[in-house]
Amino acid sequence: MCICRFHFELVYGKRGEGLIEIHHTKPLSSKTDEMIIDPKNDLIPVCSNCHKMIHRRQSNLLKVADVKRLVSNKRIGWVNKSMGSDELTTYKREFGLFVV
Ligand SMILES: [Zn+2]
Ligand SMILES: [Zn+2]
Repeated sequence: MCICRFHFELVYGKRGEGLIEIHHTKPLSSKTDEMIIDPKNDLIPVCSNCHKMIHRRQSNLLKVADVKRLVSNKRIGWVNKSMGSDELTTYKREFGLFVV
């Protein structure tokens, strides 16, 4: 799931299964010799929209916290963290996608 809570499979179904992009928080272009990558902190799973927004201005890449702040408004298709699994199942059955 993306940091904006977008989940490809929940929205697009089977076709979105396993789809996610990986954002490197240490820009690859700044790589000199060898770079030590800490997967937990340096590789962030993001949806295509957020990834595009992060890189939109190369001189000013967004941080994870920036993205979260930008997409904090609730909208259709995003998973609400407060939902229990029963509720998620119900939404999926009734609406086809999740309503936050
Ligand atoms: Zn990236
Ligand atoms: Zn996203």
